[in-house]
Amino acid sequence: MFNWNEFVQELKSTQVEFEHLKVIQLAQAILESGRGKSDLFKLHGNPYGMKFRKEMRAIADPVTYTDSAGETDIYCQFDDLEEAVKGYWVFIDRPVYSGWRTSNSKPEDYIEFIAYAGYIGGPFDGSDEDRKRKDAYITKILDLLPEAKMLLNISIPDPEPVRKIWMAKGVLLEVGHGSNPDGFEPGAVVEGEREYDLNKVAAQEAQKVILAAGVPCTVTDFGGVTSGSDLYEIGQTAAGYDVFCSIHHNAANASAQGTEVLVHNRKGDADDIALAKLMSDQIASTLGIRDRLARGRDPRAALGVLSGAEDTDVRVSVLAELYFMDAPVADRKNWSKLGGQAVGQAIVDWLASNT
Ligand SMILES: [Zn+2]
Repeated sequence: MFNWNEFVQELKSTQVEFEHLKVIQLAQAILESGRGKSDLFKLHGNPYGMKFRKEMRAIADPVTYTDSAGETDIYCQFDDLEEAVKGYWVFIDRPVYSGWRTSNSKPEDYIEFIAYAGYIGGPFDGSDEDRKRKDAYITKILDLLPEAKMLLNISIPDPEPVRKIWMAKGVLLEVGHGSNPDGFEPGAVVEGEREYDLNKVAAQEAQKVILAAGVPCTVTDFGGVTSGSDLYEIGQTAAGYDVFCSIHHNAANASAQGTEVLVHNRKGDADDIALAKLMSDQIASTLGIRDRLARGRDPRAALGVLSGAEDTDVRVSVLAELYFMDAPVADRKNWSKLGGQAVGQAIVDWLASNT
């Protein structure tokens, strides 16, 4: 026994050449099968009242069937619902409907074309009576379009509603080092590779992750306006944001490796420390290196950029040192990408659990 809802689902999920004509296919099936109530559909998988034609041999079998009006004929029988969906288009592709592809820009044009080509009562014979019969059929089909559209849309899953996990302006990521009023400052430089460039790579990757979670995220390369005091000013740009994160890479004795995320030593609070721990853990496990915070490193540090940020209304502010760029790393750019993604994910996770 064939099931009507399964037929509708199959029609929705089966790709056909002209997706926009599925509404007509379904409207015809609604009309001809009485929404799946006909025996021709229930027993033989044919919701269209489609008679057997030799061109249908590849996809359908002939079956003798007596319709509700008592008329016996040879109809198409489909083995499964996929064939029932596809068989319709095999039927339409027969020579009697040749030219249908050029009359299908709108569903309305298409149903008119096939009705007059012969779907209803054979090819149009020029009589008023035949015109009335075909037009009546077209009207019935068009009247069923809203129902068909509704049925076809039901199975398209609603996109998961995006929960708003931020409260203010979202996330501000700051690329550590770079241009400032005194010129340009590259941060650490190892084998010609500048920390600034890696910070930028990481910030851009973090931004992608955060934006993909539906959270607004800005990357700033602001280097301050006043010579000498730029770091505090950079932190001040955190005003109005939920999260401020300054992105850096460490350098020390060319052998230590690990991640640490820092908060301001006096102004940082429990929320800042919670984000720092979460982020440090995620970066370290992503890169497969030590999480220095988990090993007892105190995340509190007297950092001018975080001092400036903490003096705004920003909810949390941290400074991430993704890894030590002077210790052996096969592909720093790749690590910075991965580390940046971990920064982004940690921020999204923190926001999600602090709404
Ligand atoms: Zn730095």
